[in-house]
Amino acid sequence: MIKPWSWPFSAPTPDAIRRGLDLSLRDVAGFVIFEIAFYFAYRSGMAFSQAAASPFWFPDSVLLCALLVSRPQLWWIFVLLPLPVRLFSNVAEGIPLWFLLTTFWIDSAKGVFAAWALRHFVGRTFRLETVREFVAFFAFAVLLIPAVAAFCGATARSALGHSYWMAWEQWFLGNALAQLIVTPAILHWCLRLPLKAKLPDARRRIEAMVLAIGLLVTGYLATNTGSSAIDFAGARFYVPVPLLFWAAFRFGMRGASGATAILAILAVHGAINGRGPFADLSPADITLALQNFLLLRSVPLYVVAAVIAQRREVEARLRESEARFRSMANTAPVLLWISDRDAGCEFVNQRWLDLTGRSQSDVAGKGWLEDVHPDDVQPVLQAYHAAAASRQPFEIEYRLRRHDGEYRWISHNAALRHGPGGEMLGYIGSAIDVTDRKESEQAGRAISHAQRLILMGELSAAIAHEVRQPLHAILNNAAAAANLLAAPNPSLQELREIISDIRADDLRAAEIVSRIREFLRPQATNAQRLDVSEVVSDALLYVGSDARHRQVLVRNELARNLPPVFADRTQLLQVLINLLVNAMDAMEGMPEAERHLTARTGVDATGKVEVAISDSGHGLPPEDMRRIFEPFFTTKPQGMGLGLYIARSIVGRHRGDIRAEGNPTGGSTFRITLPAEPVSPGQ
Ligand code: ADP
Repeated sequence: MIKPWSWPFSAPTPDAIRRGLDLSLRDVAGFVIFEIAFYFAYRSGMAFSQAAASPFWFPDSVLLCALLVSRPQLWWIFVLLPLPVRLFSNVAEGIPLWFLLTTFWIDSAKGVFAAWALRHFVGRTFRLETVREFVAFFAFAVLLIPAVAAFCGATARSALGHSYWMAWEQWFLGNALAQLIVTPAILHWCLRLPLKAKLPDARRRIEAMVLAIGLLVTGYLATNTGSSAIDFAGARFYVPVPLLFWAAFRFGMRGASGATAILAILAVHGAINGRGPFADLSPADITLALQNFLLLRSVPLYVVAAVIAQRREVEARLRESEARFRSMANTAPVLLWISDRDAGCEFVNQRWLDLTGRSQSDVAGKGWLEDVHPDDVQPVLQAYHAAAASRQPFEIEYRLRRHDGEYRWISHNAALRHGPGGEMLGYIGSAIDVTDRKESEQAGRAISHAQRLILMGELSAAIAHEVRQPLHAILNNAAAAANLLAAPNPSLQELREIISDIRADDLRAAEIVSRIREFLRPQATNAQRLDVSEVVSDALLYVGSDARHRQVLVRNELARNLPPVFADRTQLLQVLINLLVNAMDAMEGMPEAERHLTARTGVDATGKVEVAISDSGHGLPPEDMRRIFEPFFTTKPQGMGLGLYIARSIVGRHRGDIRAEGNPTGGSTFRITLPAEPVSPGQ
């Protein structure tokens, strides 16, 4: 089907413009309301005598508020909408067109600059509620921009024959006053409608009503009654002041802006009708009197209101953050507590209360100590006071009575708590139930003693075998010496050799015995949470000079942030040094460039912490692989064959495992795995 020919260009329909700008019906309603508001503001602004610039330039406030609450993409519409009102309303009659256009541009520029500056320095949501917002508002919208614009305005008015500086002053004060009195009132009363704000309770509503009536009465008396300018000194002129502060104190910025607006309306009414203190004044004097009267009342009031609002906000935030802390603390899977400087409890979380079956008031102050095991109370207090005296964090373990009467071992971490001035307030910390770990440690010291007995049995057989050989040699040599001495002219040389052999065999037997004794000597285990990477790097330091001497290239690939292991540092070092020395021994016959030793740490597939020591040495023949962990198995001329045997027993005591494997590229790798310490044992 052939389409009928149509004119390709058509004027955009209002609907197309609306869609193009992505306008919502709310935006369109906003334009209409703005236009109406601007019309009335313009009329009221122009209601004052034309002999002076308006003392209250309301249209500025209407434009600024519209710009502050709308998207910057729409600003140009708000800027253009006043134009028809300015050009065609009857109040503009008799004013030259160039003057109307000039003031239109000046006012538009003021509005756009002020809205931009406030958005830029305060943020997208400008609510005129904090001190910072008020200071920015006062600086830009009230002082700076009106002051600069007043130069242009005064130039325009001086072209109409007015005095330049008088015009500047009136222009500036008229703009500043409108911004100061009308803008906050629009923002707080028209744009933040009570629908949005929380409806005040009945008592506050009555208070607000009494306040409003009081302000109306006293404000009217002050600004609309009496007859001469002398009244400015009269007491009733100041009667509204306490009511203004009452409004600011009790109702914040909303109260302050509403109260100021009431007073301003009454004062303007008095001024326009030449009543009360404004009677008998010239239009210029009325303007100045009005401006000073309102400026001096509103500024301190707003400051008070903003400070109070900000304080309330800070208090609300503090309350909120405390509530957040409490809910976090109460759902945390550990025990949390806060104390004063003297070990008095200020707070414990729900988990603590659940564990001990007590209430917050039971444990407050020194109450918590009632649940501590009687034998542990003194050590706990001593540790606490010693740490507090030296302003140090501390860690203690003690027994805490559970709700069922059973004592649980608790590990208690304490960090210093400081006040705003840096003074020490006490401690804050966490505690975990470590009973399971304590029990396994105690049991470990006992599954360890028994293991030693088994090892002794194993060893005594090995020792008997090992020592029998030198003893046998000594016996043979002694018999040979006796025979030699029985012969005539025994060879002294031969006797010396026999004695030397006896001595060497004796020394070997003695060394075996002393090594075994060393191994069997009861050792104090000092198990603690360790970072295996740190222990490996210490072990590498110990063997460093030996490695350099033997021309071995040492590399390390140590994982950071490994889960800790619970182990005796000295014993672990002993195992690692033995593996490193063995690795270097195995590379003894290799060309220098091929002597590579690598120490790696990491976590294996089962979550255990693993250390791997790899070398590029001669490796392990399969038949040796099975025997290297047996006591006295050695392939070295000076070896004892006890290193790996002892290593296996130490690792076993730590509930770990040690094994050897051949590398595909030659050499061998020894791997140790140790169980990672759970973050909160017993939880
Ligand atoms: P020693 O070092 O006194 O011989 P060990 O128990 O430490 O005692 O070692 C036992 C034996 O295991 C060594 O003699 C050696 O044969 C073998 N071995 C240990 N480490 C390695 C290694 N990295 N490469 C090859 N063989 C090794």
